[in-house]
This record gives sequence, structure tokens and C-alpha cells, in this order.
Amino acid sequence: MSTPSLASGPQGPHALRPLLDTVLDALHEGAHARGGPLPAGGPHAVAARLRAAAGDILPQHGDPDALRTLVHALAEGAADPADPLCAAHLHCPPLAVATAADLAASALNPSLDSWDQAPAATELETLVTRALAKEAGASDALVTTGGTESNQLALLLARETLGAGLRLICGANAHHSLPRAAWLLGLPDPVTVPAPTGTLDPAALDEALTTLPGPHLVAATAGTTDAGLIDPLPEIAAVCRTHGARLHIDAAYGGGLLFSDRHRDKLTGLHAAGTVTLDLHKLGWQPIAAGLLAVRDPHDLTALHQHADYLNADDDTEAGLPDLLGRSLRTTRRPDILKIAVTLKTLGRTGLGALVDQVCDRARQFAALVEDHPAFELYDRPTISTVLFRPAHTTDDAIAAVRRKLLHQGRAVLGRARLDGRLWLKATLLNPCTRPDDLAALLALVEKAAEEPAEDPWKETPR
Ligand SMILES: *Cc1c(COP(=O)(O)O)cnc(C)c1O
Repeated sequence: MSTPSLASGPQGPHALRPLLDTVLDALHEGAHARGGPLPAGGPHAVAARLRAAAGDILPQHGDPDALRTLVHALAEGAADPADPLCAAHLHCPPLAVATAADLAASALNPSLDSWDQAPAATELETLVTRALAKEAGASDALVTTGGTESNQLALLLARETLGAGLRLICGANAHHSLPRAAWLLGLPDPVTVPAPTGTLDPAALDEALTTLPGPHLVAATAGTTDAGLIDPLPEIAAVCRTHGARLHIDAAYGGGLLFSDRHRDKLTGLHAAGTVTLDLHKLGWQPIAAGLLAVRDPHDLTALHQHADYLNADDDTEAGLPDLLGRSLRTTRRPDILKIAVTLKTLGRTGLGALVDQVCDRARQFAALVEDHPAFELYDRPTISTVLFRPAHTTDDAIAAVRRKLLHQGRAVLGRARLDGRLWLKATLLNPCTRPDDLAALLALVEKAAEEPAEDPWKETPR
């Protein structure tokens, strides 16, 4: 076999160009073969098609067509967030320009654990993290793989500052990764404060802080995963101040509102937090992964200092080589900052803000359609871009079956959330290209699926 081509180096672009044609053709053909937001037939059928296409995954002799075959199979079997009827999760359609930048990141392959593996990427990361930290009222920011890692780091930094007895107090609406991070770090069992209307109740928080021994880390949410609600941040910040508790705000979803002149005010109070989780693979239209943790007090970061002679020897650092090892718990680290930088600079504040405004508008329009429709019930008008709704006069089981039926048919991808003790369908609108017509089509599909005789495809099909 001839020597395989490399992506970097002077010949890299030359080697990549025909392969990119293959990839783009396979993406196009795969999406066409799928013909909807999700592959039809459910997990069993999708798995069988994938297995058939993939064949022997480690053959004795290589298959020159593997790139086309596997990209086609993955595209054909993808849930496509760029399809307007794919609206279940905080799973955004990535911007083409960000995805193109990510290709360059893969080709250059800088690793952000030492300067000698990433000279320019080091400086770009410094520039971009400082700029984004400033937006969130912080002084610095670390790049993470997403909200989960950001929340873990936030707890770790709080523990290192306040001591191992640190107790996490979060709302019943908080993301599951927060109590999990407390478990991972061996902290005392977290305390859950009620969120009766979907947001953390400041009076209940006050009571918890009064009765429980400290030190405390309070975690508030700006953009809940289920309903897209924002906790009353100024009131929570005031309660924390009164009790000397440290505040973390999980703005994995809502953080994107910072880009919008129209919606930024909803984040008033964010600046009071010691740490803020941001996640640009949600309201930032980045390919996964694009998380950040903004940190107000730069001294907090000394807790992450780490020494490994091959990466940050003292004499190298004294001689002026930047020390990157304390910027993450990871060692080898992708330059996720490149696609973020390209996006910020290409779109600017106005361009990004317009995307945010657009998806918030679409959510408002969808909620209005639901509200005006006698066959549907609306949970509430949206705060960000999540709309919870359910067919009226039916059971939770029937609603769960409607969601699975649409998934099985590959016709629409909706999420689910349990609030007020009832099950709701969830539309998380993150696609700025969705048109009002698409919203009407989505609602019509759900109406039709709810009217058909109850059948739950995955309960009835034997595997
Ligand atoms: C999505 C989300 C997370 C987790 O982020 P990942 O990027 O999936 O790790 C945490 N908190 C909230 C509020 C989220 O919406």
C-alpha cells in the first residue's frame, strides 16, 4: 500500500481537496436518502442499515471507499438539526463557517497543552476567552467540552477556594450535571431547593442558606433545559450576598442572549456570579464541542496549576513560554477556539444577536400557534426559545407515544419534559432558518399523530 496522505504540511491542502469533494457529495447524498429530520424505522432498523453499510470495520485489507461509505451511512442515519422539524434538544445546526474553521483546526491539529504545540492557537485562545469573559462580566474563561465540564470545573474551583466541606445548593430545575459533579468531587450531598414555578425560589434558598452549615455554593440556572426559564438572578445574587455564599450561574443555554440587544436584559444579575457556564454549541451555532467557564476572580484559577516538566518546565516558563497546563483538566486539547473566533468575527455582535432574536421570535410564533389551536394546550409563553405544549384532553402515555411515533416515522423530532406533574412535548427552536410555515407543519404533524389510533411502534415491534 502507498503511504497515506497527511492533512497538514505543504501537501496537506492538496491531499484534502479531493477527499472533501467525496465528503461533501456523501453528505449531500446521505441527507437526500434520509429525506427528513431523522431516519425512519426506529433504532432497530437504523442500526441494521448502519451495520450493513459499514460491513467489516477492521478488514484485513483496507477499503479505499470507506470515507464515502461511512459518511453516507452517517448522514443517512443522522438527526439533522438543520431540518426545521428537528427541534427536540439544545442541539443546534452548526454554522457552515464554523464547521469550515473546525476543518482547519483538525488539519493543523494544534494541541493546547503546551505552547510548542500551538503557538498561534495559544494567543487566539487568550484573545477570545478574555473577550467572552468580559461579555459575561468575568475576567477570564476556560475552554471546556460543554456545560457538563464547565459545571464540574465551577464546583472544583469553589471547593478549592472554600474547602472540602463545600455544599452545593441548587434548584430542582438545575441540570443533572451539577449534582453529578458534587458526587464526582466527593462533596457533601447537594441540597435541592424547590422550583415550584420552574425557577428557583429565592425565599426557599434563603431558608436553606440559613439552616444549613456552610460553606455554600449556590448554582442558579439561566435557561433551564426543560423549559428555557431563567432563575430570578438579581434576587438570588442578593440572597447569596446576605449569606456570604458563592454563586455559580449555569447559563449553558441562556448565555447566548448576551449577544442580543433585545434579550440581554434577561441576564441581569449574571455579573454577580463567581463562575458562569457558557455553551456555544447551543445558542452559538458551533459544531460540538464549544463550552466555556467564565471566572470572575483570576486567583481561583491557581487551583488548576499543574507541573509536568515536558510541558511547562520552570525554566521554560521563566524564559517566557506560556504555561497552558493550568487552563484545563485535560492535557491534549483541541483548538475549539478557532471556530468560535471565526464565528464571532464573521458575524459580529449584530449578526449573532440577529440569530438569537430570530430563534426567540420563532418560539414566540410557535407558542402563539399552539395557544390559538383548540386541540392543544400551551405550558407558557417562551422566555428563550423553548415551547412546551401538549395535545389537549389526552394522557401522558398517549403523548409519550406521539413523540415516539414521530421519531419512528422519521418525520419530526420533539423532546419531552415533565412539569406541573404532567408530560409535555418540547420544541427547542435553535434553527434560525426555520420559517413560520415550518412551525405550522410541525403542529399539523403532531395533531395528526395524536388523532390516529394510539399505537406505540417500539412497544409493539418485537426486536
Ligand atoms: C446543555 C446543558 C448543560 C450540559 O451541557 P453539555 O454541553 O451537554 O455538557 C448544562 N446545563 C444546562 C442548563 C444545559 O442546558
